[in-house]
Amino acid sequence: MSTALGILGGTFDPVHHGHLRLAIEVLERLGLDEVRLLPTATTNLRDTPTASPAQRLAMLEAALVPGLVADDREIRRGGRSYTIDTLIEMRQEQPQASLNFVLGADAWNALPRWHRWQELLDYANLVIATRPGVTLTDIPELAAARCETLAEFRAARAGRVLVLPIPRLPISSTDIRARLQAGHRVDYFTPAAVVTLIDRERLYRD
Ligand code: ATP
Ligand code: MG
Repeated sequence: MSTALGILGGTFDPVHHGHLRLAIEVLERLGLDEVRLLPTATTNLRDTPTASPAQRLAMLEAALVPGLVADDREIRRGGRSYTIDTLIEMRQEQPQASLNFVLGADAWNALPRWHRWQELLDYANLVIATRPGVTLTDIPELAAARCETLAEFRAARAGRVLVLPIPRLPISSTDIRARLQAGHRVDYFTPAAVVTLIDRERLYRD
């Protein structure tokens, strides 16, 4: 088999153990070569991040372990980040690779609001990380792409959808920012190296 990559986009404002465990779970369960974490520049779907792109990237880089890679292309591109542009670019770079774009259930449910979302499957597979009790919105246009088995999914370089039950740690960047704003510590929500950067730059505090 040629290269198999996971792609996890996010604001990472800041990155935390929820994101990192998700990346490791996907890496191991799909048998990927690496998972690329892509901080977005800005998107039309949410407010401008609090930390600068350079700060979000530095925190992400401080959090990485083998198998996880930071990919700063959306930040370098600047302006609004559209996943479709990123996947087109990655497909051009890696014509033979299996590309697997990872989404949480929340992101899947918002997918029909994404720019050119119907074309995403032309370039990559989609992996939906969810847990029991969470309702996944039916997206009829993508129903036929859904795989029931891992073997079927892993045979495709693009075009298929897999639902993976993955436990979600009860951590969010929003909660981390709120705690810092209130003057509290965020140790153990995110790697110690990230806490060090947050403290050094007094991020999210004032
Ligand atoms: P915010 O609170 O600012 O929205 P967040 O913690 O939700 O931040 P994002 O950058 O919005 O983080 O999320 C990026 C990706 O990581 C999304 O696909 C999201 O579903 C997933 N994700 C976020 N938090 C968790 C978590 N605790 N466990 C598993 N996946 C997560
Ligand atoms: Mg979020």
